[in-house]
Amino acid sequence: MQYQEFTRVSVEKLMTGTSDIPPLCKARPDYERQCSICGHGPVVDLYTMDGQFVDSSDMCGVCAFGRQDCREPSHWPA
Ligand SMILES: [Zn+2]
Repeated sequence: MQYQEFTRVSVEKLMTGTSDIPPLCKARPDYERQCSICGHGPVVDLYTMDGQFVDSSDMCGVCAFGRQDCREPSHWPA
């Protein structure tokens, strides 16, 4: 994994099935990358509330949050 220097907790939380993102992070869309699972974009990137990049989930909103209506970034929970 290339993101090991960042806080891995956030992505591990996403990967282990909790469909909500960590409370201290917010999701922002990355339109230049595609989901590692379904190939759609944008990909969910995680930022702190201060706007610092934390990590990328490598997944689109649908796969990261487990809800079809999360395809649109405006519907993401954070
Ligand atoms: Zn996906």
